[in-house]
Amino acid sequence: ELAQRVRVFNGDGATKDGHEVQLLANVGDGAAARSAAEAGAMGIGLFRTEFCFLDQPTEPTVEQQVEAYTQVLAAFPGKKVVVRTLDAGADKPLPFLTDATEENPALGVRAYRTTRRDPEVLDHQLEALARAEAATEAKVWVMAPMISTVEEARAFTDKARSYGLSTAGMMIEVPSAALMADAMFEHADFASVGTNDLTQYVMAADRLLSTLADLSTAWQPAVLRLIKTACDGAAPHGRPVGVCGEAAADPALAVVLVGLGVASLSMTARALPDVDAVLKSVTLEDCRRIAALAVGAPTAEEARTAVRAELPVLEELG
Ligand code: PEP
Ligand code: MG
Repeated sequence: ELAQRVRVFNGDGATKDGHEVQLLANVGDGAAARSAAEAGAMGIGLFRTEFCFLDQPTEPTVEQQVEAYTQVLAAFPGKKVVVRTLDAGADKPLPFLTDATEENPALGVRAYRTTRRDPEVLDHQLEALARAEAATEAKVWVMAPMISTVEEARAFTDKARSYGLSTAGMMIEVPSAALMADAMFEHADFASVGTNDLTQYVMAADRLLSTLADLSTAWQPAVLRLIKTACDGAAPHGRPVGVCGEAAADPALAVVLVGLGVASLSMTARALPDVDAVLKSVTLEDCRRIAALAVGAPTAEEARTAVRAELPVLEELG
């Protein structure tokens, strides 16, 4: 038990045979970014920018945004920081951007879709982000949430590059984006799979309803098959796919994700040591074999049981 409490991560995520896996942190502000850096995170895999402005009634000014983004970027000089543009709506309402009267907010004008109504909010954000990148030494990878079509992927990445943000990508959290991944990577430099929303939309199960927890899990083979589709779509383009949903923090699922071809895992910083320890107990070939077991299982329960049986090191983590 003591060993577990003092286990640390040294910023060297890799499998036993040396296949590098970037182990990154999810953060919402500068304080979280600084503690993620202390925890050894190799970079930021998801900066949820809306967390900086959740209680604000009006759009933050560009200056306020530059200040908030600089705080996060400054914690990771020389490192990759994946910044997500505002993901407003449904479970993350922003009064200045989303319509609280929609009947089905999870399916509504949320996230990237708010640009249909207020395109300039994204412009302001990209301008602020470019200024924050110029003021620091971090490498910004910018991505948009809830991309659903290839037109959206093209429009977003073109716009981001027009602001001087050189690495532009997208989240894969809508099933259509996973199914169209091969075409998406004509435009996106990278993608990050948001397993929380991807699971919600694949299983048609509200992520906020704990009574549907058996459906709302990335162990569902249907979810894993879509993640595989996304990775297979990226491979011919040589583009990296990461995962930044809760699934990345589950050490057993992390092994499956690496086996499917995922290059980076982003999680709450406190999950880094356990995920690192499990990855260091297996080879890349083990990961691929274990991933095939999960993807081939008929049920979530059987997927989980089959994978856990292959990972004795999990016992030590408690
Ligand atoms: C996700 O959907 O998995 C994700 C990482 O984004 P969020 O949880 O902020 O919607
Ligand atoms: Mg999401």
